[in-house]
Amino acid sequence: MLGAMMNYPLTLAQILDHANRIHGDKHVHTLLPNGKMDTYNYAMLYRRVKQLANAITELGIRPGDRVATFASNTYQHLEIYCAVPYAGAIIHPLNVRLAPTQLAKIVEEADDKFIFVDGTCAAQFSQLQYKIDCRRVVLFNANHVHDKNLTDLSIDYENIIAEAEDNYISDIPDENWAMALCYTSGTGGEPKGVLYTHRSMFLHTLAVNQADVFGLTESDVVMPLVPMFHAMGWGLPYAAMFVGADIVLADTNNERIVDLIAEIGVTVAAGVPTVWTKLLPEFRKRKQDISSLQRLIVGGEPIPSSLIEAYEKELGVEVRHAWGMTEMSPTGTFCTLRKAHQNLPDDEKWKIKAMQGRPIPGVQMRLVNENGTELPWDGNAIGEVQVKSPWTVSSYYKNEPTPEHFTVDRWLRTGDLATINSEGYMQIVGRAKALIRSGGESISTVALENVLLKYPHVKDAAVIGIPNEKWGERPIAVVVLSSKTNENISEILKCHLASEFPKFWIPDRFIIVDEIPKTGVGKTDKQAIIELITASQKGELL
Ligand code: ADP
Repeated sequence: MLGAMMNYPLTLAQILDHANRIHGDKHVHTLLPNGKMDTYNYAMLYRRVKQLANAITELGIRPGDRVATFASNTYQHLEIYCAVPYAGAIIHPLNVRLAPTQLAKIVEEADDKFIFVDGTCAAQFSQLQYKIDCRRVVLFNANHVHDKNLTDLSIDYENIIAEAEDNYISDIPDENWAMALCYTSGTGGEPKGVLYTHRSMFLHTLAVNQADVFGLTESDVVMPLVPMFHAMGWGLPYAAMFVGADIVLADTNNERIVDLIAEIGVTVAAGVPTVWTKLLPEFRKRKQDISSLQRLIVGGEPIPSSLIEAYEKELGVEVRHAWGMTEMSPTGTFCTLRKAHQNLPDDEKWKIKAMQGRPIPGVQMRLVNENGTELPWDGNAIGEVQVKSPWTVSSYYKNEPTPEHFTVDRWLRTGDLATINSEGYMQIVGRAKALIRSGGESISTVALENVLLKYPHVKDAAVIGIPNEKWGERPIAVVVLSSKTNENISEILKCHLASEFPKFWIPDRFIIVDEIPKTGVGKTDKQAIIELITASQKGELL
């Protein structure tokens, strides 16, 4: 027998309407490139979203059309993020740091009808611009653009908003209607498109807003230092709006980020480990005035326990580790301590916090070996993580589900290799392709990197496998030192690792570099490292 409850579609419009009605006085702050702040409230955001929804309809954008953005984190980007799905179209945030050829391919596949371009990203856009009809560009922050062709041909964002009424009424009858298209960041190969529905994003928003996940409340001031094009800004814009938290939008490279945290009283900030490594020295200097900052949400890559320790012990800022992927909207697991862990020594707590955590409610997870056999959750067995949830992709955009990505019983194959312990805490040991196979045994690059980073003079480290005739593959470490040293660092690091790992795990070579190459979203770029190693064959080998 079917139940007798309202069939009430779960749509983004509800999130927006609620944010306006209940939290209309809450703020959206944007740090402008000149270091100044722009602030308005949710009521104003709502009004402009309604105007923009009318304006894009006027431009000919219809439900189901893809509308790209090429933008940094700004209030305009947030408006587009809201207005496009509000009008039934599909928001497609482009990763501004991808190579122009890759971007052109993505724009072609997505068949974007218009691109909303942030003038502050004009330099990156210039290489893509020639592959695109500029009459399909809607430009904001145009004062940063020096290309007359672009300013002449494009449509002015503020003009179309000014000319539009603020009476748009959203009407999305089916919660399974598509609302956003986001491509993976391309760390493990070519970017792939994930098409979210209103329902999946609504449920993801509710799920991450639980106390043991992001735990945002109306009292929070949230600063997503993750670009809005990286896995939908990890769901933070919609999550913050639904609970009525103030939002602070800023570019991670802006020098005033730490000032801003102090001035506005940011309580929760989110970003990849690279961001927190970079900001740590600045935070150390300014210990006193960042006391508002209660916790960091860190994900996208494993966070080393040494970094967790620095934030928690020195700065009193709690670190919460998240794992997910664009395919999961993106949240899959979240690491909070159990009640049973509360009395553990700090060292033990940091070890747990460096794990990727437990599946959040709504996410089903299993570990599977190469033969398709399910493995036990004993903290030892390593297998591929497979997932199911209402916010997990069922097939990539414009592609049929293939066995490479989906199992016969319709679980998503994440390509991540992990252990899960009896308490349900997952620990990623590498991506399927990143795990080094040496003499038939597995070597975890993540575990090696974690221990390398604990050595006092090591600022950054990455381990990769290179082909080896005898063993199949052997590990090589690429290391950034915090200060120059005359010691035989290679031997020292070998000894340091030998205390924790079997002999065959120890990298054959240690290459010292000034910087480890990162991808557009700040993850270690292993492909670029392979190129770096090839180039350094005769170079700085120790
Ligand atoms: P891409 O797959 O191109 O990197 P995503 O940004 O969606 O695009 O990345 C998802 C992947 O990032 C995951 O499959 C996993 O390999 C990695 N990842 C995300 N969070 C973590 C984490 N906390 N620890 C380890 N790896 C992570």
